[in-house]
Amino acid sequence: MENKNAKAVVEAMNDRSHHPFSPSQLEAIELCPGRFSLCRDLPERAGDAAVEGTRLHAAMAMVLLDPNSAWDEGLNQDQKSLIDICESFVAEILRSGSGMSYYVEEKLRLMQDGAVLTEGTPDLYILDEEHREATVIDYKFGWGEIEDAANNLQMAALAAMVWQTYPSVVRVRSILLQPRLHGKSEHIFEGEGVFLNIIGQIGKIIDRASAPDAPRIPGKKQCRYCRGMLQCPEAVAAGLSTNMLTLPPKPSCDLALAMPDLLDRVELCEVLCKEIRDRAHQLISNGYVIPGWGLRPGNKVRKGQDINLLYSIMSELGCTPEEFVNVCSVKIGECEAMGVEKMVARAKSAGQDMTKRQAAEILSQRMIESGAVVLEQQKDRLVKKKTQ
Ligand code: SF4
Repeated sequence: MENKNAKAVVEAMNDRSHHPFSPSQLEAIELCPGRFSLCRDLPERAGDAAVEGTRLHAAMAMVLLDPNSAWDEGLNQDQKSLIDICESFVAEILRSGSGMSYYVEEKLRLMQDGAVLTEGTPDLYILDEEHREATVIDYKFGWGEIEDAANNLQMAALAAMVWQTYPSVVRVRSILLQPRLHGKSEHIFEGEGVFLNIIGQIGKIIDRASAPDAPRIPGKKQCRYCRGMLQCPEAVAAGLSTNMLTLPPKPSCDLALAMPDLLDRVELCEVLCKEIRDRAHQLISNGYVIPGWGLRPGNKVRKGQDINLLYSIMSELGCTPEEFVNVCSVKIGECEAMGVEKMVARAKSAGQDMTKRQAAEILSQRMIESGAVVLEQQKDRLVKKKTQ
């Protein structure tokens, strides 16, 4: 087991500069090879989600390297429960075998013909040399849909890095954890041929992107986090195309056929609109003048702060406890996290072994079976199907 200094790891994470072909960028560069040269000299920008993601990754690193550190400083209950989910998942893997070693936020390289193709930093990888196997885990703390592990180029690249770094490893289990969605996707990369194919594919992506005439190909997936979007004529033209507004009235069947193109344009347009608004907001905040536009202070929203105090005010007015409870809402995730803590602590004091995951399963079932919690069917969502 590695025992590196948690503080040093977190500092290194904050200072980290990313390789231009880092594993997390590969899919976007494959979809739009021209993105590499357009964005090469543009500064990185971190949105709120990225800032939260970095903080949560740092918390996970601290928990694994030094559980007594102040890993939860500044985190809210929801964020702490995300860390709990990931930490208990990792603990279960580590408990499942002996002689494993694990590495947190360790930088690895991928080589081809003696040259460095790319560098990347798995959130965590675990080596089980006895079984010639490694496990790579990547936490995705957002809400967004992600490519599953089997088709995820970032995970393939990280798996190939581990395989190349440790000659004894013949198979790499790649796991994507999405604690907010209670999601997990897993795939095993195995055999020299598979890893050599991954390296070859990455080599071709980099070659295509490095060509002077690398094309820029807009699309929601690749444009979404592209920091060059407003400098990209192709994305702006595709996103703001007025074709969709000039469609003649059509029978439904023709309209259905036109929909795939329209929906793709709408998705890109939404990404572009958000980018334009975000940049305008940033410019005005930084003192630039945008004629006709300005910032208005956000509305003040009332938020319940002290539920006991609120109840005492309401009870003075004659509200019964039942009436008061009926107008309160419960944060199910936080309630469950609290219950899980209690169950694990109670089991421990009774000399029993219970993981957080086991506790969460039992509690979740109990809450539903008792009728305390119901599963509500939400409205169908329009989604783009994955192409095989
Ligand atoms: S905005 Fe889209 S099309 Fe333009 S370079 Fe970036 S990813 Fe490519």
